[in-house]
Amino acid sequence: MHVGYQCEECEEAVWLATTRSELTWLRNRRHLVREVLKHVSAGLDSWIMDGMEFLERHDGHSVVIVSKST
Ligand SMILES: [Zn+2]
Repeated sequence: MHVGYQCEECEEAVWLATTRSELTWLRNRRHLVREVLKHVSAGLDSWIMDGMEFLERHDGHSVVIVSKST
């Protein structure tokens, strides 16, 4: 099962190596994670970095969590 974020306005999606509950967590705590990223030089897990990049780029858009089986 692959999970990711999809922007309903841009019809763009990103698939991330994590779980649906982790994606929900990140989306709800984006402001907190953004603060943490300012203080960690090495960055966080790649799915968090990629997920944050997507969420920030689609800030204010309608982003949903999607999944697909492969
Ligand atoms: Zn968008």
